[in-house]
Amino acid sequence: MSEVLAKKAAALDAADELAPHRDLFTLDEGVVYLDGNSLGALPRHVPARMQDVIAREWGQLRIRSWEESGWWTAPERIGDRIAPLVGAGPGTVVVGDSTSVNVFKALVAAVRMAGEGRDEILVDASTFPTDGYVAQSAARMTGCQIRALAPAAIVGALGRRTAAVLVNHVDYRSGRLNDLPGMTAAIHAAGALAVWDLCHSAGALPVGLAAHGVDFAVGCTYKYLNGGPGSPAYLYVRGDHQARFDTPLPGWNSHEDPFGMRPAYVPGEGATRGRVGTPDILSMLALESALDVWDGVPVEAVRAKSLALTDFFLECVEAYVPAGKVSSVTPAAHAERGSQVSLSCEGAGDVMRALIERGVVGDFRRPDVLRFGFTPLYVGFADAERAAAELATLLS
Ligand SMILES: *Cc1c(COP(=O)(O)O)cnc(C)c1O
Repeated sequence: MSEVLAKKAAALDAADELAPHRDLFTLDEGVVYLDGNSLGALPRHVPARMQDVIAREWGQLRIRSWEESGWWTAPERIGDRIAPLVGAGPGTVVVGDSTSVNVFKALVAAVRMAGEGRDEILVDASTFPTDGYVAQSAARMTGCQIRALAPAAIVGALGRRTAAVLVNHVDYRSGRLNDLPGMTAAIHAAGALAVWDLCHSAGALPVGLAAHGVDFAVGCTYKYLNGGPGSPAYLYVRGDHQARFDTPLPGWNSHEDPFGMRPAYVPGEGATRGRVGTPDILSMLALESALDVWDGVPVEAVRAKSLALTDFFLECVEAYVPAGKVSSVTPAAHAERGSQVSLSCEGAGDVMRALIERGVVGDFRRPDVLRFGFTPLYVGFADAERAAAELATLLS
């Protein structure tokens, strides 16, 4: 059995056009890294770029770098690098702050834009916790009620009072992909605004923000975008909303004349309006450099490989792991699957610890989920087969 699937893995790897991308990353021989949905691997060329940023741009040019090294305009410039990965046009994405902070900006702005009589915010009940906490506070500040609903119940709950809806594109625990086009259309039909959190989808699958008319979106860059620990997040504001985007965090960086140092706030134009204070330049430039690995990579190819990888991993698990030991909580249907496989398993915490000792790095999510993230740029089919084989050995 194992022979057959190992051969299949080798054939799939040989036919994989993205396989050469693996060499762009720093990875250890013998370790299968399936945690890139939590912290992406380091692209090999980033340390040299950071050496230059620190030694020359900071060390030698110092204050001049805000202009000469393009530091001041980095948030918009890097936003434009991310935009094509999420199907957004130029000038609609700005990089900065954390996802949590950007959820706050987007949600409050969406409620402010929604208009009279709309005093309800719907949130995905299984959301990554930070989104839920921020939504609670945003609701209190804007005088809204919050309703937490399973994503499948959201469309049925939309109504005249709905101001905004906040949904995770891919559920971080189960790996379920929510229907962004369909839900966004329904949210618009109800007269409300859609805010999508793309943390687990950007860099793993096509998002189509502009094509589907999404109002606001946020996401982090340290998962599938490999920007490094704590790399800044991004905020998308649909082009035709930008002039009305009333940020709850109007810092000097988003002022139309930041160096005018004027007492009255006058918002700048375009994506700049999403900025707040001085950007974290080192992290931001590490992210910018890391994004080079996407040059010439169509997101559709990434998605095709991601589905093939998760299919193959599930096939290997089914073949190798004794019946009844694990069950997948990730939807089988491609249209409902992100780029991870979550398996519920008794004693999952201990199982994951043992797997990591054996060189297969995934993670554990309480209460009983083994989470395996598949990052198509540097994970291959032999890795998927090896992970399933190690898991089977542990559970046999
Ligand atoms: C990872 C993740 C976050 C993280 O937010 P930070 O502010 O970067 O800590 C938020 N939302 C979702 C859905 C995530 O998966």
